[in-house]
Amino acid sequence: MNCNEAQAIIDGYVDRELDLVTSLEMERHLETCDACSQVYANRQALQASIRSGSLYHPTPAHLPNRVLAAVRQVDRANTARRPDPSRVRPTFALRWGWLAAAASLVIVALVGWSLGRLSSVPSTEDRLTQEVFASDMRSLMAANQGIEVRSSDQHTVKPWFAGKLDFSPPVQDFAAQGYPLVGGRRDYLNSRTVAVLVYKRHAHWINLFLWPSPRDAATEMGTSQGYHLFHWAKHGMAYWAVSDLNAHELQEFVRLIQSEA
Ligand SMILES: [Zn+2]
Repeated sequence: MNCNEAQAIIDGYVDRELDLVTSLEMERHLETCDACSQVYANRQALQASIRSGSLYHPTPAHLPNRVLAAVRQVDRANTARRPDPSRVRPTFALRWGWLAAAASLVIVALVGWSLGRLSSVPSTEDRLTQEVFASDMRSLMAANQGIEVRSSDQHTVKPWFAGKLDFSPPVQDFAAQGYPLVGGRRDYLNSRTVAVLVYKRHAHWINLFLWPSPRDAATEMGTSQGYHLFHWAKHGMAYWAVSDLNAHELQEFVRLIQSEA
């Protein structure tokens, strides 16, 4: 990120409206750029001066510590889940250096994905793909993959979503087929709250994102930096399955979901 790019989005950064990847890029830039840091300080001062009134919702004071705690979890989680050292390089010197490294890994993954798909897929699809990958990365950084309801019982997971989403996601356990349901969580994607069902296949996690879709879409498959992604829409639901599982086994998982839906 250069100074022009940074200053074009610095208001969004001050207002915490940027996505995770862009925020991390901005943090990295501010660490090394006095000019932009000065602009940032001025914006913060301006914001502080208008910080009264009912429209302002402050970030919880504990959030920075929670972020750092989540990042520390990654060191352990990644050792088990992402053994490829070229993609994830755990380090004990945590804090912003690590975050910057994580951000660049995400960016490499996203750029690789976009380049591979540029010719055939519209840009909104690419943006959504990036959001799904970023969410998958965020879940990596969270304790317990960010799972909010931890249960292998579909009759526990499905009702948990009631009242938390404006739709009822289909929830199936595939333990008998070797893809046990681990739990679920919510995420914010495509300008809406979506359901994420978390499955396991041996040591690999599978994130299945789903939300209502008015149109059916044929199954598409993509690969980036060791991740595989399947996307389709059927019976009023859009599905995105992401994992570092091999493509063959992830496709088997997709077939199971599609046969039940
Ligand atoms: Zn700058």
